[in-house]
Amino acid sequence: MPASYADRLYRTRRRALVDHLRERGISNERVLNAIEAVPRHAFVEPAFQERAYEDEALPIGRSQTISQPFTVAYQTSLLDPQPGERILEVGTGSGYQAAVLCEMEAQVFSVERHKALLERAKRTLKQLSYRVRTRHNDGTQGWPGLAPYHGILVTAGAQEVPQPLLDQLRPDGGRLIIPVGPEGEHVMHRIVRTDEDTYEHETLGTFRFVPLVPES
Ligand code: SAH
Repeated sequence: MPASYADRLYRTRRRALVDHLRERGISNERVLNAIEAVPRHAFVEPAFQERAYEDEALPIGRSQTISQPFTVAYQTSLLDPQPGERILEVGTGSGYQAAVLCEMEAQVFSVERHKALLERAKRTLKQLSYRVRTRHNDGTQGWPGLAPYHGILVTAGAQEVPQPLLDQLRPDGGRLIIPVGPEGEHVMHRIVRTDEDTYEHETLGTFRFVPLVPES
């Protein structure tokens, strides 16, 4: 397939995906614009590129998945990153979510525990000129050296909320979006730090994530 034809095809599919997300209740136009802009097919393996614009999670190797577009749109809407804000992602995976955050003009930092996945994500992001600072580490520890963050987005399901992530939020409204619960039924939490010692918790829909695995 000639490149220009493929680009047009994928662009059309991306637009259809955005329409679908809108129908499913995503209304943040900045999020929808970002999803319309990011070539998700570049973040999946060649064997799955044809399915890149279906609303499905897809395998990316090492038993991990690129999150379903609805989940990305939902979490990003809850985070609502503003231009220039410092955002930490836990679980780089394919790099797709980080690219969506870049499209929204956030300063993006991302931590991944699988070295091979991280190396591939870095290559993809670089090829597409997305600037993301990454670190190979256990993301339950956050990235203390660069804290505090306006927002932290966790893209794997946690058993409980890691204390370091709470500590690394800005005390003037920093927000943490994190799925929490036993495997297979993670409840989305939105936690806002409104003061040094004050956190407001809100629980939202149920999702299925790959597990957040702390280093032992
Ligand atoms: N945001 C990714 C989705 C990746 S799935 C994307 O857009 O493609 C979740 C990712 O979290 C996996 O890559 C997994 O390896 C990673 N992960 C799981 N536990 C982790 C931990 N403790 N620290 C950092 N990354 C972790």
